[in-house]
Amino acid sequence: MATLKPMPVATKISAPFWQALKENQLKIQQCNSCDGWVFYPRNHCTHCFAHDLQWKQISGEGVLYSYTLTRIPTMPEFSDEMPQALAVVELAQGVRINTTLIDVAEQDITIGMAVKPVFDKVSIDGETLLRFTSTENVGGVRDYIDPLKDLTRNDQGQVQVPVSNLTALSALADNKFTDWSNQIVVDQALINAFAELSGDDYWLHTDPERAKKESPFKTTIAHGSLVQVLQSRLTIALPFEIIGFKTMVNYGSNRLRFPAPVPAGSTIYGRSKVQDISVSHKGVQLTLEVHIHVVGSDKPSVINDLVILYR
Ligand SMILES: [Zn+2]
Repeated sequence: MATLKPMPVATKISAPFWQALKENQLKIQQCNSCDGWVFYPRNHCTHCFAHDLQWKQISGEGVLYSYTLTRIPTMPEFSDEMPQALAVVELAQGVRINTTLIDVAEQDITIGMAVKPVFDKVSIDGETLLRFTSTENVGGVRDYIDPLKDLTRNDQGQVQVPVSNLTALSALADNKFTDWSNQIVVDQALINAFAELSGDDYWLHTDPERAKKESPFKTTIAHGSLVQVLQSRLTIALPFEIIGFKTMVNYGSNRLRFPAPVPAGSTIYGRSKVQDISVSHKGVQLTLEVHIHVVGSDKPSVINDLVILYR
């Protein structure tokens, strides 16, 4: 996900429509039995009810059938698009499509005006939405614009993202891990100190002699919660800095797992990626997926979906 906005979910029936948009084509269904055109995507013809529809590429030229200008976003995610010209376009084939009219000044929008499609690339993955614009405009493909491109950077080279810039925030959730952090050694002394602090002095953590004989790991292992809190000693270089908020709160974890042990004496390091950005009445919630590994091990010892709340 690299967009906060709700995205269409293709179904088995509608998938050819969305795939065509990705390829900068508009395809709708035509009935092989009566030649009638059908939109939205269906299994059967709406004219003669035959189950014999075929996807056909069309130019997409049509006229503006109806529209409304929304000045208050229906969801905060759309606040960067105000006012939105929500439109119904009637294609030359007679079917109507709900869409958004773009790049036409408010005073120039008229019912019946000639329009043509714009293939709007809304994510770095090429997800495409169908907009329309005046036939006097260029139309065609609207390229994806990286919303982080023009933002300033701090001394560490991190891109500075204002908490109010929802479009840029959403681009942070690109599912890419940071580089590995610094490394730290989890030795028996550290494990003993944590056992004393937490009161969890189970022999699997604190008795190397017994662990050698009885533990499946043949040695003592660190407490999962110890490895989790050691995250504070790992400097994970995030490629961004969020700015312009009043408070930042550690809101807890959506998921905390200890999939692999950390034997005493291991060296650990960590990395993270932005899993999700969401907006609610509480503020902007950033979910950071933190992984801590024993150095060289593919399997994480800690997975922590850490939720940070900005307001
Ligand atoms: Zn038909």
